[in-house]
Amino acid sequence: MDIRIKDIIQLLDTHAPQVYSESYDNPGLLCGNPGWKATGALICLDSIESVIDEAIQLGCNLVIAHHPVIFSGLKKITGKTYIERTIIKAIKNDIAIYAIHTNLDNITDGVNRMIGERLKLKNLKILRPMKNRLTKLVTFCPGTNLEEVKRALFTAGAGNIGNYSECSFIVEGTGTFKGNEKSNPFVGEKDKRHSEPESRIEVIFESRLENSIMKALRAAHPYEEIAFYLTTLNNEFQVVGSGMSGDLEKPMDEMAFLNYLYKKMNATVIRHTSLTGNIISKVAICGGAGSFLLNDAINADCQVFITSDFKYHQFFDADRKILITDIGHYESEQYTGELIYNLIRNNLPKFALHLTKQVTNPVHYYYQHGH
Ligand SMILES: [Zn+2]
Repeated sequence: MDIRIKDIIQLLDTHAPQVYSESYDNPGLLCGNPGWKATGALICLDSIESVIDEAIQLGCNLVIAHHPVIFSGLKKITGKTYIERTIIKAIKNDIAIYAIHTNLDNITDGVNRMIGERLKLKNLKILRPMKNRLTKLVTFCPGTNLEEVKRALFTAGAGNIGNYSECSFIVEGTGTFKGNEKSNPFVGEKDKRHSEPESRIEVIFESRLENSIMKALRAAHPYEEIAFYLTTLNNEFQVVGSGMSGDLEKPMDEMAFLNYLYKKMNATVIRHTSLTGNIISKVAICGGAGSFLLNDAINADCQVFITSDFKYHQFFDADRKILITDIGHYESEQYTGELIYNLIRNNLPKFALHLTKQVTNPVHYYYQHGH
Protein backbone atom coordinates (compact mmCIF):
# COMPACT_ATOMS: atom_id res chain seq x y z
CA MET A 1 0.00 0.00 0.00
CA ASP A 2 1.28 3.43 -0.96
CA ILE A 3 1.88 5.83 1.86
CA ARG A 4 1.26 9.42 0.90
CA ILE A 5 2.78 12.50 2.48
CA LYS A 6 -0.71 13.36 3.74
CA ASP A 7 -0.92 10.03 5.61
CA ILE A 8 2.21 10.91 7.59
CA ILE A 9 0.84 14.40 8.19
CA GLN A 10 -2.44 12.99 9.41
CA LEU A 11 -0.65 10.65 11.79
CA LEU A 12 1.42 13.48 13.26
CA ASP A 13 -1.54 15.84 13.38
CA THR A 14 -3.66 13.31 15.25
CA HIS A 15 -0.95 13.03 17.89
CA ALA A 16 -0.10 16.74 18.05
CA PRO A 17 -2.98 18.72 16.48
CA GLN A 18 -1.82 21.89 14.76
CA VAL A 19 -4.55 23.87 16.52
CA TYR A 20 -2.51 23.43 19.71
CA SER A 21 0.45 25.36 18.35
CA GLU A 22 1.17 28.91 19.50
CA SER A 23 -0.22 31.81 17.47
CA TYR A 24 3.25 33.06 16.42
CA ASP A 25 4.25 29.64 15.10
CA ASN A 26 4.22 28.28 11.55
CA PRO A 27 3.83 24.51 11.78
CA GLY A 28 2.55 22.24 9.01
CA LEU A 29 3.56 21.52 5.43
CA LEU A 30 5.96 24.29 4.35
CA CYS A 31 6.58 23.04 0.83
CA GLY A 32 5.73 20.00 -1.25
CA ASN A 33 2.53 18.24 -2.16
CA PRO A 34 0.52 16.23 0.38
CA GLY A 35 -0.65 13.93 -2.42
CA TRP A 36 2.86 12.70 -3.28
CA LYS A 37 3.72 9.12 -2.55
CA ALA A 38 6.11 9.25 0.41
CA THR A 39 9.42 7.58 -0.43
CA GLY A 40 10.78 7.99 3.09
CA ALA A 41 11.13 10.57 5.82
CA LEU A 42 14.18 12.19 7.36
CA ILE A 43 13.61 13.63 10.83
CA CYS A 44 15.56 16.58 12.21
CA LEU A 45 15.33 19.57 14.52
CA ASP A 46 16.39 22.06 11.86
CA SER A 47 15.67 21.52 8.17
CA ILE A 48 18.72 23.37 6.89
CA GLU A 49 20.28 22.92 3.44
CA SER A 50 22.61 20.12 4.48
CA VAL A 51 19.63 18.15 5.83
CA ILE A 52 17.87 18.51 2.47
CA ASP A 53 21.06 17.11 0.88
CA GLU A 54 20.94 14.20 3.31
CA ALA A 55 17.31 13.53 2.35
CA ILE A 56 18.24 13.53 -1.34
CA GLN A 57 21.03 11.02 -0.68
CA LEU A 58 18.71 8.78 1.33
CA GLY A 59 15.96 8.97 -1.28
CA CYS A 60 13.49 10.50 1.18
CA ASN A 61 11.07 13.06 -0.24
CA LEU A 62 9.84 14.18 3.18
CA VAL A 63 11.80 16.09 5.78
CA ILE A 64 10.09 16.36 9.16
CA ALA A 65 11.56 19.14 11.27
CA HIS A 66 10.76 20.47 14.72
CA HIS A 67 11.58 24.08 13.82
CA PRO A 68 9.73 25.57 10.82
CA VAL A 69 12.48 26.87 8.53
CA ILE A 70 9.95 29.37 7.14
CA PHE A 71 8.94 31.12 10.32
CA SER A 72 8.09 34.74 9.66
CA GLY A 73 7.35 34.53 5.94
CA LEU A 74 9.40 34.88 2.76
CA LYS A 75 9.02 37.84 0.42
CA LYS A 76 11.73 36.86 -2.03
CA ILE A 77 13.25 33.50 -2.95
CA THR A 78 16.54 34.28 -4.62
CA GLY A 79 18.89 32.13 -2.57
CA LYS A 80 20.34 35.01 -0.59
CA THR A 81 19.74 33.45 2.81
CA TYR A 82 20.09 29.91 4.11
CA ILE A 83 16.30 29.79 4.42
CA GLU A 84 15.76 30.68 0.76
CA ARG A 85 18.48 28.22 -0.34
CA THR A 86 16.87 25.45 1.70
CA ILE A 87 13.45 26.04 0.14
CA ILE A 88 14.88 26.30 -3.39
CA LYS A 89 16.76 23.03 -2.94
CA ALA A 90 13.71 21.28 -1.51
CA ILE A 91 11.40 22.44 -4.29
CA LYS A 92 13.92 21.66 -7.06
CA ASN A 93 14.26 18.13 -5.72
CA ASP A 94 10.58 17.49 -5.01
CA ILE A 95 11.13 17.31 -1.29
CA ALA A 96 8.37 18.19 1.12
CA ILE A 97 9.18 19.90 4.42
CA TYR A 98 6.81 19.47 7.32
CA ALA A 99 7.25 21.20 10.67
CA ILE A 100 5.79 19.96 13.95
CA HIS A 101 6.77 22.63 16.42
CA THR A 102 4.90 24.20 19.34
CA ASN A 103 2.05 21.73 18.84
CA LEU A 104 4.57 19.04 19.80
CA ASP A 105 5.76 21.20 22.71
CA ASN A 106 2.26 21.75 24.04
CA ILE A 107 0.90 18.22 24.25
CA THR A 108 1.34 15.83 27.16
CA ASP A 109 3.18 13.22 25.08
CA GLY A 110 5.57 15.66 23.50
CA VAL A 111 8.93 17.35 23.82
CA ASN A 112 8.69 17.91 27.56
CA ARG A 113 7.69 14.37 28.40
CA MET A 114 10.84 13.19 26.62
CA ILE A 115 12.90 15.39 28.96
CA GLY A 116 10.85 14.35 31.99
CA GLU A 117 11.32 10.68 31.26
CA ARG A 118 15.07 11.07 30.80
CA LEU A 119 15.17 12.66 34.25
CA LYS A 120 12.86 9.92 35.57
CA LEU A 121 10.30 12.45 36.81
CA LYS A 122 6.97 11.30 38.18
CA ASN A 123 3.55 12.99 38.14
CA LEU A 124 4.31 14.89 34.94
CA LYS A 125 1.78 17.68 34.46
CA ILE A 126 1.40 20.62 32.10
CA LEU A 127 2.81 23.73 33.76
CA ARG A 128 0.64 26.34 32.03
CA PRO A 129 -2.49 24.68 30.61
CA MET A 130 -4.23 26.37 27.67
CA LYS A 131 -7.56 28.09 28.25
CA ASN A 132 -10.65 28.45 26.07
CA ARG A 133 -10.03 25.10 24.38
CA LEU A 134 -13.05 23.27 25.78
CA THR A 135 -16.71 23.46 24.81
CA LYS A 136 -19.79 22.33 26.71
CA LEU A 137 -22.70 20.87 24.81
CA VAL A 138 -26.16 20.77 26.36
CA THR A 139 -28.81 18.92 24.45
CA PHE A 140 -32.16 17.28 25.12
CA CYS A 141 -33.48 13.99 23.85
CA PRO A 142 -36.29 11.52 24.59
CA GLY A 143 -35.38 8.87 27.16
CA THR A 144 -35.84 6.10 24.61
CA ASN A 145 -32.89 7.44 22.60
CA LEU A 146 -30.70 8.59 25.48
CA GLU A 147 -28.22 5.73 25.32
CA GLU A 148 -27.83 5.95 21.56
CA VAL A 149 -27.19 9.70 21.64
CA LYS A 150 -24.73 9.38 24.52
CA ARG A 151 -22.85 6.61 22.72
CA ALA A 152 -22.60 8.68 19.54
CA LEU A 153 -21.26 11.69 21.46
CA PHE A 154 -18.69 9.61 23.36
CA THR A 155 -17.56 7.87 20.17
CA ALA A 156 -17.01 11.24 18.50
CA GLY A 157 -14.73 12.28 21.39
CA ALA A 158 -17.01 14.02 23.89
CA GLY A 159 -16.84 13.35 27.62
CA ASN A 160 -13.10 12.94 28.09
CA ILE A 161 -11.76 14.60 31.24
CA GLY A 162 -8.19 13.75 32.31
CA ASN A 163 -8.00 10.01 32.90
CA TYR A 164 -11.78 9.61 32.57
CA SER A 165 -13.87 9.00 29.49
CA GLU A 166 -17.64 8.87 28.89
CA CYS A 167 -18.25 11.71 31.38
CA SER A 168 -21.73 13.23 31.12
CA PHE A 169 -24.43 14.68 33.29
CA ILE A 170 -28.08 13.75 32.78
CA VAL A 171 -31.22 15.33 34.25
CA GLU A 172 -34.73 14.11 33.57
CA GLY A 173 -37.40 16.65 32.70
CA THR A 174 -40.19 17.47 30.31
CA GLY A 175 -39.81 19.05 26.90
CA THR A 176 -42.66 20.65 24.96
CA PHE A 177 -43.00 21.45 21.29
CA LYS A 178 -45.60 22.15 18.63
CA GLY A 179 -44.75 21.50 15.01
CA ASN A 180 -46.29 23.53 12.17
CA GLU A 181 -47.97 21.99 9.14
CA LYS A 182 -44.62 21.41 7.42
CA SER A 183 -43.22 19.51 10.39
CA ASN A 184 -42.84 15.78 10.71
CA PRO A 185 -42.50 15.19 14.46
CA PHE A 186 -40.83 12.03 15.79
CA VAL A 187 -43.44 11.93 18.59
CA GLY A 188 -46.77 13.77 18.91
CA GLU A 189 -48.83 15.40 16.19
CA LYS A 190 -48.34 18.55 14.15
CA ASP A 191 -50.20 21.68 15.22
CA LYS A 192 -50.66 20.32 18.73
CA ARG A 193 -48.49 21.09 21.72
CA HIS A 194 -46.76 17.91 22.80
CA SER A 195 -45.10 17.17 26.17
CA GLU A 196 -42.36 14.57 26.12
CA PRO A 197 -40.24 13.13 28.95
CA GLU A 198 -36.73 14.11 27.92
CA SER A 199 -33.22 13.90 29.28
CA ARG A 200 -30.93 16.89 29.38
CA ILE A 201 -27.42 15.75 28.44
CA GLU A 202 -24.33 17.75 29.26
CA VAL A 203 -20.90 16.84 27.93
CA ILE A 204 -17.56 18.60 27.61
CA PHE A 205 -15.25 18.19 24.63
CA GLU A 206 -12.19 19.69 22.97
CA SER A 207 -13.44 22.65 20.95
CA ARG A 208 -11.48 21.47 17.91
CA LEU A 209 -13.85 18.46 17.71
CA GLU A 210 -17.02 20.56 17.44
CA ASN A 211 -17.82 19.68 13.82
CA SER A 212 -17.51 15.93 14.25
CA ILE A 213 -19.41 15.96 17.53
CA MET A 214 -22.29 17.98 16.10
CA LYS A 215 -22.35 15.66 13.10
CA ALA A 216 -22.58 12.66 15.44
CA LEU A 217 -25.37 14.33 17.43
CA ARG A 218 -27.37 15.05 14.28
CA ALA A 219 -26.96 11.48 13.07
CA ALA A 220 -27.99 9.87 16.37
CA HIS A 221 -30.75 12.23 17.56
CA PRO A 222 -34.27 11.27 16.47
CA TYR A 223 -35.76 14.78 16.34
CA GLU A 224 -36.21 16.89 13.24
CA GLU A 225 -35.06 19.97 15.17
CA ILE A 226 -32.53 19.30 17.87
CA ALA A 227 -32.46 21.63 20.84
CA PHE A 228 -28.86 22.24 21.94
CA TYR A 229 -26.48 24.90 23.02
CA LEU A 230 -22.73 25.18 22.87
CA THR A 231 -20.67 27.20 25.33
CA THR A 232 -16.94 27.84 25.20
CA LEU A 233 -15.51 27.25 28.66
CA ASN A 234 -12.92 29.29 30.50
CA ASN A 235 -11.62 26.12 32.14
CA GLU A 236 -7.99 25.20 31.67
CA PHE A 237 -7.43 22.26 29.39
CA GLN A 238 -5.11 20.30 31.65
CA VAL A 239 -3.48 18.12 29.03
CA VAL A 240 -2.40 20.82 26.57
CA GLY A 241 -0.18 23.81 27.28
CA SER A 242 3.34 25.07 27.92
CA GLY A 243 6.04 23.39 29.97
CA MET A 244 5.67 20.55 32.44
CA SER A 245 6.39 19.86 36.06
CA GLY A 246 7.29 16.59 37.71
CA ASP A 247 8.76 15.08 40.86
CA LEU A 248 12.20 13.56 41.18
CA GLU A 249 12.35 9.95 42.28
CA LYS A 250 14.67 11.01 45.09
CA PRO A 251 15.12 14.63 46.19
CA MET A 252 18.70 15.86 45.92
CA ASP A 253 20.72 18.96 46.65
CA GLU A 254 21.43 21.47 43.91
CA MET A 255 24.98 20.40 43.10
CA ALA A 256 23.91 16.78 42.85
CA PHE A 257 21.04 17.84 40.63
CA LEU A 258 23.27 19.88 38.29
CA ASN A 259 25.51 16.86 37.93
CA TYR A 260 22.48 14.62 37.28
CA LEU A 261 21.01 17.03 34.73
CA TYR A 262 24.35 17.44 32.96
CA LYS A 263 24.68 13.70 32.48
CA LYS A 264 21.05 12.84 31.71
CA MET A 265 20.64 15.61 29.14
CA ASN A 266 24.09 15.15 27.62
CA ALA A 267 24.79 18.84 28.19
CA THR A 268 28.01 20.62 27.26
CA VAL A 269 27.51 23.42 29.72
CA ILE A 270 24.77 24.50 32.11
CA ARG A 271 24.28 28.20 32.76
CA HIS A 272 22.54 28.60 36.10
CA THR A 273 21.62 31.10 38.78
CA SER A 274 23.24 31.14 42.23
CA LEU A 275 22.38 28.17 44.39
CA THR A 276 19.45 28.73 46.74
CA GLY A 277 20.31 26.00 49.24
CA ASN A 278 16.98 24.26 48.59
CA ILE A 279 16.63 20.53 48.23
CA ILE A 280 15.26 19.78 44.78
CA SER A 281 12.21 17.56 44.60
CA LYS A 282 9.94 19.25 42.05
CA VAL A 283 11.26 20.18 38.63
CA ALA A 284 9.87 22.44 35.91
CA ILE A 285 10.87 21.77 32.32
CA CYS A 286 10.39 23.47 28.99
CA GLY A 287 12.22 22.30 25.90
CA GLY A 288 13.43 25.22 23.79
CA ALA A 289 13.10 28.85 24.82
CA GLY A 290 11.07 28.78 28.05
CA SER A 291 11.92 31.91 30.02
CA PHE A 292 8.27 33.05 29.72
CA LEU A 293 7.35 30.24 32.13
CA LEU A 294 9.58 31.32 35.00
CA ASN A 295 6.72 32.54 37.19
CA ASP A 296 4.64 29.47 36.43
CA ALA A 297 7.56 27.34 37.59
CA ILE A 298 7.91 29.38 40.80
CA ASN A 299 4.16 29.33 41.46
CA ALA A 300 4.06 25.56 40.99
CA ASP A 301 6.61 25.30 43.85
CA CYS A 302 9.34 23.89 41.65
CA GLN A 303 12.85 24.28 43.03
CA VAL A 304 14.49 24.19 39.63
CA PHE A 305 13.54 25.23 36.10
CA ILE A 306 15.24 23.51 33.16
CA THR A 307 14.99 25.31 29.85
CA SER A 308 17.10 27.39 27.45
CA ASP A 309 17.65 30.82 25.95
CA PHE A 310 17.50 32.76 29.21
CA LYS A 311 18.88 36.28 28.79
CA TYR A 312 21.24 37.95 31.26
CA HIS A 313 18.62 40.12 32.97
CA GLN A 314 16.12 37.28 33.13
CA PHE A 315 18.53 35.31 35.32
CA PHE A 316 18.05 37.99 38.01
CA ASP A 317 14.32 37.22 38.03
CA ALA A 318 15.02 33.91 39.74
CA ASP A 319 15.55 36.09 42.84
CA ARG A 320 16.66 33.04 44.86
CA LYS A 321 13.14 31.60 44.59
CA ILE A 322 14.19 28.97 42.10
CA LEU A 323 17.30 27.64 40.42
CA ILE A 324 17.28 28.47 36.70
CA THR A 325 19.25 26.00 34.61
CA ASP A 326 19.83 26.85 30.96
CA ILE A 327 21.11 23.75 29.21
CA GLY A 328 21.03 25.15 25.65
CA HIS A 329 18.24 25.17 23.09
CA TYR A 330 19.51 22.32 20.94
CA GLU A 331 20.43 20.22 23.98
CA SER A 332 16.96 20.61 25.47
CA GLU A 333 15.33 19.41 22.25
CA GLN A 334 17.84 16.81 21.11
CA TYR A 335 15.51 13.88 21.88
CA THR A 336 12.59 15.36 19.96
CA GLY A 337 13.65 13.61 16.74
CA GLU A 338 13.49 10.29 18.56
CA LEU A 339 9.97 11.13 19.72
CA ILE A 340 8.78 11.80 16.14
CA TYR A 341 10.64 8.71 14.94
CA ASN A 342 8.97 6.42 17.48
CA LEU A 343 5.56 7.89 16.79
CA ILE A 344 5.78 7.09 13.08
CA ARG A 345 7.60 3.80 13.59
CA ASN A 346 4.94 2.49 15.99
CA ASN A 347 2.20 3.20 13.47
CA LEU A 348 3.98 2.44 10.19
CA PRO A 349 6.59 -0.21 11.00
CA LYS A 350 7.74 -0.65 7.39
CA PHE A 351 7.96 2.97 6.28
CA ALA A 352 11.51 4.15 5.44
CA LEU A 353 12.43 6.40 8.33
CA HIS A 354 15.70 8.08 9.26
CA LEU A 355 17.00 10.38 11.95
CA THR A 356 19.45 12.96 10.68
CA LYS A 357 23.08 12.13 11.42
CA GLN A 358 23.87 15.84 11.58
CA VAL A 359 24.19 17.95 14.68
CA THR A 360 22.42 21.06 13.48
CA ASN A 361 23.14 23.07 16.64
CA PRO A 362 24.32 26.48 15.39
CA VAL A 363 25.83 27.22 18.82
CA HIS A 364 29.35 26.00 19.57
CA TYR A 365 31.19 26.22 22.87
CA TYR A 366 34.75 27.19 23.55
CA TYR A 367 35.81 26.77 27.14
CA GLN A 368 38.89 25.95 29.14
CA HIS A 369 38.81 23.77 32.22
CA GLY A 370 39.78 25.44 35.43
CA HIS A 371 38.11 28.76 34.65
ZN1 LIG B 1 13.17 24.91 19.66
